[in-house]
Amino acid sequence: MTPDAEDDPFARRDAARDFARAAMRVGTKPDERRADRHAAAPRPFSPRLFVAASGLTVALAAVFLMLRPTPSPVPQTAQAAVGTGLQSVTRADEATVLAAPQDRLRVFRLSQAPSVLVLAFPSLHEQALMLDRVGAFVEKAGMPHDRVLPDSELLSRIAQVGEDFDSFYYGHDYRAADLLRFFVTADADGVALDTEERALRKLLTQQGMLQHGAVGAVISVPPLSVQPPVDAGSRATILRHEVSHGVYFTDPAYAAYTQHFWAEVMTERDRAAFRKMLGGEGYDTANEDLMSNEMQAYLVHTPDRRFFEPSRMGIDASLLRQQFVAGMPAGWLRDETPPH
Ligand SMILES: [Zn+2]
Repeated sequence: MTPDAEDDPFARRDAARDFARAAMRVGTKPDERRADRHAAAPRPFSPRLFVAASGLTVALAAVFLMLRPTPSPVPQTAQAAVGTGLQSVTRADEATVLAAPQDRLRVFRLSQAPSVLVLAFPSLHEQALMLDRVGAFVEKAGMPHDRVLPDSELLSRIAQVGEDFDSFYYGHDYRAADLLRFFVTADADGVALDTEERALRKLLTQQGMLQHGAVGAVISVPPLSVQPPVDAGSRATILRHEVSHGVYFTDPAYAAYTQHFWAEVMTERDRAAFRKMLGGEGYDTANEDLMSNEMQAYLVHTPDRRFFEPSRMGIDASLLRQQFVAGMPAGWLRDETPPH
């Protein structure tokens, strides 16, 4: 997920900052706004997941953000934590992932969908070191998708749009095939991988996810954080949102159902409302696969109103959600998704 947009109530990502700015700008009550990671508007980039904020948090965030200097440099540290975290991969459900200690990077295979790897990071900074360049390469609006950016160019591009390296994304989600393409392209371009990216490549190779034709996905979840604010509820929301992407990437029946719903069940007005919301958060609105994937994640698997408020869509999103859930392919995800 990503940050917040100028006038669009659905801003996410640099949630804290956008959130604070929005609240200050229009006098909106903090709890009427949302922040997460995958979105963005006039601004080409925004991180994708969200962060919510209570009144006090927003006020504190506003002060902090005004004082905060330019985006953090890309540090070349944290290798030790990353290396330690990649030593073992265990199966876990969402509750177990959320309850695990946040002292180092921990890697899980989602018990309900073992082809989905879940990376739980000890800090937004370490998450950014490992995955920001992948995100820019794979999907971030306004970024080149045919080459891997040198670190310096990534930082300058993030700074140009007023974003921050660490909170460029709150949560990530990628297909195995896109991760393979990232590494192949970096090699072909002669772009050196950073330590954390090399650790990721090693992990994915060990897990068989970089083989041609491999079916798999990588998703991530940030730790609890005071600044930017990520509370337990936000963390659970981010994880469920990303899990739905993991299912979309690895379950052909669910992906086909979602794409059919997007193209055939939803009206052009419905799609336009989602494109407006998603475009405002930095998603490439010309990418139909991305649009349908984000539609299902927000419409159906982001129940926290701090992150997604259907009533502000200008369409009957609640009815759409009911229709989507009613037709979902049978399985654990449908079983775990409330009908309303
Ligand atoms: Zn998303």
